[in-house]
Amino acid sequence: MGIYGKEDCAPSLQGLKRTRLGVTSALTGWLSGKTDTLLTLIANYGREREKRLLTQTLSLPALKGRISRAALMNEQDSTHFGYQTVPKAEKAQKVAEVFHSVASSYDLMNDLMSLGIHRLWKRYTVEMAGVRSGQKILDLAGGTGDLALAFSRKIGQEGSVVLADINASMLAMGRNKLLDRGACSNIEFVQANAECLPFASNTFDLVTIAFGLRNVTDKDAALRSMYDVLKPGGRLLVLEFSKPVSSPLARIYDAYSFSILPALGELIAHDAGSYRYLAESIRMHPNQDTLRQMMQKAGFERTDYHNLTGGIVALHRGFKS
Ligand code: SAM
Repeated sequence: MGIYGKEDCAPSLQGLKRTRLGVTSALTGWLSGKTDTLLTLIANYGREREKRLLTQTLSLPALKGRISRAALMNEQDSTHFGYQTVPKAEKAQKVAEVFHSVASSYDLMNDLMSLGIHRLWKRYTVEMAGVRSGQKILDLAGGTGDLALAFSRKIGQEGSVVLADINASMLAMGRNKLLDRGACSNIEFVQANAECLPFASNTFDLVTIAFGLRNVTDKDAALRSMYDVLKPGGRLLVLEFSKPVSSPLARIYDAYSFSILPALGELIAHDAGSYRYLAESIRMHPNQDTLRQMMQKAGFERTDYHNLTGGIVALHRGFKS
């Protein structure tokens, strides 16, 4: 694990803030291999004197570099990449590496990991979308195109679906799959970042984002951007992993996520790390009520959510007035 979140370190923060013990425990921790965590704590919460003492005493250029890097990572500049705290500017690249790595085995892994249940979650999403012939739909972070395919069959030739994704490898997998299914006549493929969508305001009747929001660095900006491109009266559906509603289910799910998922990732995609990120990113994602509030803050009205499979996944819905 990399740098811990602030909450995980609350007791040591007090020590670092107020006493010289901060430096002592930092050095001890450094020697025991928790350098990044402690340097970040010192950079963010230590006194100037502690920072100076640490660099001067050790006089290690590499360590100085790490301290100044950690010092840059205050709350505004940093974000989560799974359980790691990383500079915001680096998250998109790290997420891109994950999806470049898993793109070719993405569909197979989805079926294996969820025992096919992701198909039911997506079917429910399509039902809740209530699309009609002739509508314009944006499937954002659309990846390999399961939702785009289902919508393209419902809207007919007068309608159109835009499958947008930031990642070229995922888009290529999606385009090839939909071409193979003969479903491309009313689908466009666009490489775009959810945070700043390249579409005119008031363009779409429906925007969907399935298992994508979790990976976006600035989720508030993405929600505002989705709101902007929706037509008045249009709806947003966010299908995303969420928080299980019962503790026994959460415990089983945790055990599954942190042992079986990475092992399956290693076996099928030869990449345990990306599937560890999947498990971690789910835990760091806002819970049902927080996401609902974020949608309201972005301007959405009549927001609600439906827990699926005991809250392992939730479908959030909101409307533009
Ligand atoms: N929606 C598809 C599905 O449900 O199977 C794919 C979901 S996949 C877990 C997440 C997708 O989000 C990836 O294809 C990834 O490239 C995309 N993504 C991540 N960050 C993004 C961003 N900032 N803007 C647009 N797409 C993004």
